[in-house]
Amino acid sequence: MQTALADSVKGTPHGREAEAILRSCVHCGFCLPTCPTYQLLGDELDSPRGRIYLMKQLLEGEPVTARTQLHLDRCLTCRACETACPSGVQYGRLLDIGRELTDARVARPPAEHLQRYLLRKVLPHTERVRWLLQAARIARPLLPGWVRQRLPRPAVPLPALLRTTPPKWPAARHARRVVLLAGCVQPVLAADINPAAATVLDRVGISTVPARAAGCCGALSHHLSAHAEALAQIRRNVDALWPHLEAGAEAVVVTASACTAMVADYGRLLQHDPHYAARAARISALTRDISQLLAPSAQALRSALPPFAGSVRVAFQAPCTLQHALKVSGVVEGLLAAGGFTLTAVDDGQRCCGSAGTYSVLQPQLSGQLLKSKVAALEAGAPEVIATANIGCLMHLRGGTALPVRHWVELLAARCAGD
Ligand code: SF4
Ligand code: SF4
Repeated sequence: MQTALADSVKGTPHGREAEAILRSCVHCGFCLPTCPTYQLLGDELDSPRGRIYLMKQLLEGEPVTARTQLHLDRCLTCRACETACPSGVQYGRLLDIGRELTDARVARPPAEHLQRYLLRKVLPHTERVRWLLQAARIARPLLPGWVRQRLPRPAVPLPALLRTTPPKWPAARHARRVVLLAGCVQPVLAADINPAAATVLDRVGISTVPARAAGCCGALSHHLSAHAEALAQIRRNVDALWPHLEAGAEAVVVTASACTAMVADYGRLLQHDPHYAARAARISALTRDISQLLAPSAQALRSALPPFAGSVRVAFQAPCTLQHALKVSGVVEGLLAAGGFTLTAVDDGQRCCGSAGTYSVLQPQLSGQLLKSKVAALEAGAPEVIATANIGCLMHLRGGTALPVRHWVELLAARCAGD
């Protein structure tokens, strides 16, 4: 695609990167059928090709309006279009640049601005989330119905075969060691996921130590165009993770695929920071989603688990960040099968569930429509449990089904407890 960038962005790092991405798009439209918002709204401007065109206009200095901002806001950043694109267009990167430039030129209404500010100031802070949820639980009877409906749903019990005591973090006893980034909301909303990961890794001979001084991966602020805030969170995490790698940890493991994708990008995000670039690049190179870390140990896991006295049918929802950002496909299904679980078929598995970070809060209607169709696809095979790989998707799916929803590693940890 031919472009003539405006003088204000020409020659800047953003301008150079955006121009290269714009030039790689050949306008073929192969990405359109995979785009959830295009499927729902049928408007070219809510498709990847249409948004690329809007961002081209923006970068060429044409007027930007609230309409442009709306079409960019409606994008889930699911990156299904990147998987479908034959030209390798880095749509997600272009969108980050496009959103930042748009938000700098188009002021949001005060209520929207406040909503985004509060999301950034609460969600990345574990103790603030914990306090807020406790307060909401106490005040629940006094809250209006629409607020009560949006509170996180409690976990539905697992089938009897998998009901065990919550996993405990095993003591470090193996020569192989990894450091775990715990995340921000996950330790409050689903506190068993990280101990479950440590339990399963222990079974295959890997000890896990938490990076206690780390916090939010930075994705939330980054995707809300608060890049300086995100970079401060990333630098704090680099400082927290680095001593563990120096002390011999072989990898940084993350149990939320969205956070894994973010940490895997630290090297690029800090490439121009002379104090952090080298450490951030090393951390990114050593970052693994728990599925990527366990994949080579599937056979060892199969041998280490006790016999399964029955079977449990599981539908796996592959988060967009797992399949489109990290390019991990079929790995979790293989690990669950190694654990003795029966996988049910899920149609349209590449389609987003509508969670997409803060999308379910900021675009509730589109998000709700996507949730409904995702749950229908997951439930079609009559599973007993729905499994996923990302805390955002997990909490979102819980809002749309009566089935238990868990991180897949929790199911394997429950199998470990069957000894
Ligand atoms: S993003 Fe890729 S698939 Fe979509 S129109 Fe451009 S080149 Fe074609
Ligand atoms: S990231 Fe997802 S929602 Fe956004 S344009 Fe691409 S396919 Fe559509």
